[in-house]
Amino acid sequence: MSYDEFYIKSVVRAIPDWPEAGVIFRDVTPVFKDPRAMRMVCDAFIQRYMRTGITHIASVDARGFLLGSVVAYQLNLPLVLIRKKGKLPGTTLSREYQLEYGKAAIEMQTDALEPGNRVVIFDDLIATGGTLLAAISLIHELGAEVEEVAALIDLPDLEGSQRIQDSGIPVHALLAYE
Ligand code: AMP
Repeated sequence: MSYDEFYIKSVVRAIPDWPEAGVIFRDVTPVFKDPRAMRMVCDAFIQRYMRTGITHIASVDARGFLLGSVVAYQLNLPLVLIRKKGKLPGTTLSREYQLEYGKAAIEMQTDALEPGNRVVIFDDLIATGGTLLAAISLIHELGAEVEEVAALIDLPDLEGSQRIQDSGIPVHALLAYE
């Protein structure tokens, strides 16, 4: 099945003024519901990260899990989780960050990664970049390298992907909405 950006874009749904006024929420749940779109998206990521020497897939709670787990399975790589605060048992590291709407914290287990690991982080969407910058910071604290950040959608007007690139980490997003 060949990759068709216009098809995937037609499947993503825009919800104006949700979860609050002024935000256009890019709803990716129809992509998960559409096997053709889901296969195109996952295959595009799988192709990109095949034989690249990356050692781990990290995925961000919750929609990042759905992309990252398929890619990790297909590439036969370990999957590590970056979860919202209070969800992971055992010893964890935590980072607070600012969202497009509100404030949050994410955590990783301290034994998730170690020095020498080369990681790609998956999330569904990059808005302000706060979530992924916090994720990068957690992974660096564990001594691992972030090779790239991968997302289905980038919102370049919010400059998150630029901030991530300015921090020295490449960004790969399949779709952009201006
Ligand atoms: P940020 O940290 O600002 O880059 O926000 C990224 C996270 O918030 C992603 O995990 C998205 O799931 C969610 N998010 C932020 N803004 C939007 C939006 N406009 N539409 C859909 N999801 C969003």
